[in-house]
Amino acid sequence: MSDTSPGDEADLIIRGGRIHTFDGQDSAVSALAVRAGRIIARDSEAEKLAAARTIELDGRTAIPGINDAHLHAAWLGARWPHLFFSDTPPEDQPSGRLVTTETERRAALTRAWGLLAELGITSYTEPGIGPGEDDGETGCFGTDMLATYTALHRERAQTSRVTLLRLFGTIDGESTLEDFERGIRTTAPTTDPHWLAVTGVKIFADGIPPMATAWVEEPYPDGSTGELLTRGSDAPLSAFRRMIELAAARGLQIAVHATGDRSITEFLHALEGLDAAPPAAGPHYVVHGDLATTAQLERMRRLGAGFAVQPLIAAHTHDWAGAQLGPERLARAWPLREMLATGTLTTITSDAPIATPDWRVGLDSSLALLSAAGRPDDTELRRTLLRTMTVDAARQDGAVTWKGSLEVGKVADLTVLDEDPCAPGRPFASLAVARTIVDGRSIYLRD
Ligand SMILES: [Zn+2]
Repeated sequence: MSDTSPGDEADLIIRGGRIHTFDGQDSAVSALAVRAGRIIARDSEAEKLAAARTIELDGRTAIPGINDAHLHAAWLGARWPHLFFSDTPPEDQPSGRLVTTETERRAALTRAWGLLAELGITSYTEPGIGPGEDDGETGCFGTDMLATYTALHRERAQTSRVTLLRLFGTIDGESTLEDFERGIRTTAPTTDPHWLAVTGVKIFADGIPPMATAWVEEPYPDGSTGELLTRGSDAPLSAFRRMIELAAARGLQIAVHATGDRSITEFLHALEGLDAAPPAAGPHYVVHGDLATTAQLERMRRLGAGFAVQPLIAAHTHDWAGAQLGPERLARAWPLREMLATGTLTTITSDAPIATPDWRVGLDSSLALLSAAGRPDDTELRRTLLRTMTVDAARQDGAVTWKGSLEVGKVADLTVLDEDPCAPGRPFASLAVARTIVDGRSIYLRD
């Protein structure tokens, strides 16, 4: 069956290598035809079409463009090349105000986009920008940064597609119900959601296990359990539930920073208690989920909700967290194998600039985490891991109808690698990125 008629002309044909489409059948095709940024034909149908331009893969492998579903691009661009987990010693880490002027904010975003293009990243989620950070230390998360995003978006200056969550409290800190109610009544900027989708809100429920600030059922060695970070005139839990109700009633996507099992339980309670809310702009999800239990994964799956996880941060903080969690809980922490096995929506993300935005390093630490949990490296596993950063990330974005896989009608966003990333037995980090294509346009070409 032909998807195209003989009169169809393509703008671009991509051919001469293996193209993993990550469609429902996980097909590999030999060619794609693209018109106006969308795929119009695949395989032999694509090869038949006339096109103004051709990209020869020269035996390389293409996959759908990588989507890092939790990456602070403004902060990354402002700090680059300094990451929290890196060789940069504490005394050389940037601190205080990083960006103040519009020129500096634009430079931060543009620097991040250049870096992401080199890494083969075509989409990401900027998790948390809004008024709660207007007086924030770095200048990277306030209303001004949202305005800069919107301005660059309207100038069509983006090379990455962005999903953005608004933030009505402080990043990694407390939020009040009063500020949340005030913020949520303000309207998000009007944008083309294919490039800048403001889908919902980020809420911080708790801290992190290494600092004993994850809200947990079983106490830490000092007897504390961590606590909720939401505040209101009633108990923190009432404020937390009310925030979720308010966001859901507006059809907003809700992403909750929750690392402790108790925080995840309360998020699940709140989601399960929602009246028939309007469909959200994307599924609700937990960010981090370090101490999620198997029963919680199953409940999240039933709700159609998901997890955005960071196996590389798990590797960096493993021993540090162990001191607070003890060996038994540590062994159950970061249940990536169970997340993938239960079919719970899971995205593997960097949380850059906390860890490197290099997704290949993140996938290698995922392989290590899974191997420690008894899941050996094979082609099926590699495909599953790559899907968490393409198809599943598009599901998290509520955008699976138009991105995440290489199918007719979807956008031509591709990452071209020198070797096949689905072949087991070699580190992902050894796969060089040769070219990055967004909307049918090469935004990075290695010389
Ligand atoms: Zn983050």
